[in-house]
Amino acid sequence: MSSPMLTVQNLEVYYGAIHALKGVSFEVKTGEVVSLIGANGAGKTTTLRALSGLVGTKGQISFKGQDLSQVPTHKRVGLGIAQSPEGRGVFPQMTVRENLEMGAYSRKDKAGILKDFDMCLELFPRLKERLWQMAGTLSGGEQQMLAISRALMCKPELLLLDEPSLGLAPIIVSQIFEIVKKLNHEGMTILLVEQNARMALKISHRAYVLETGRIVMQDSAQNLLNNDEVRKSYLGV
Ligand code: ATP
Repeated sequence: MSSPMLTVQNLEVYYGAIHALKGVSFEVKTGEVVSLIGANGAGKTTTLRALSGLVGTKGQISFKGQDLSQVPTHKRVGLGIAQSPEGRGVFPQMTVRENLEMGAYSRKDKAGILKDFDMCLELFPRLKERLWQMAGTLSGGEQQMLAISRALMCKPELLLLDEPSLGLAPIIVSQIFEIVKKLNHEGMTILLVEQNARMALKISHRAYVLETGRIVMQDSAQNLLNNDEVRKSYLGV
């Protein structure tokens, strides 16, 4: 866990007149789980969208030493960055199986695709029982499982997870975080965006706190869990 897989420097994003990211810098090292925590509207989703190439940016994004500024979204997926979007974003009119196949659309390694397909169903046995069900009819938790699995079907080296706990019952949230932890133990590098700061910090190595488009704090997850300011503002204690 040493070399930076992702280095972000002075990232800026505007939506028209709204300056959503005001010079955000952070890094994610190979093998880490890093969280971005912060209130509604702090710029967490925007940061992930910038990394995936879904919004125009200023600043530098370097992935495995390669500058991504001119690299379009689909090529970033090919390089090893996959995002599980906020609000799940599964294709509702497609079956679970088709959604998973869509995740692998740019891959040619048939044997590898089959292996990852089986791996996803092993991670999320609920999806196995629902392979032929329309994704739009899944429960919120199941849709979240599918969104993560679809991202895994891209065979990412860096998995971007946007609010995996959003709107889910606590027991499902725990299950999903257990799986995120397991994925990391098996070698996946993860950048996690969460409003549920406590859950996020519990499974992270390090974290950054975003406030209105700026990083205002960074530390080990353990230190942040014990930090008075973080406890008051984000952990409700
Ligand atoms: P949330 O948890 O509510 O999604 P967030 O930290 O992910 O919050 P962002 O969604 O990144 O925050 O939003 C950052 C800022 O950019 C907010 O002020 C938001 O209103 C604004 N914003 C986000 N998307 C757009 C858009 N498409 N057009 C205009 N402004 C936007």
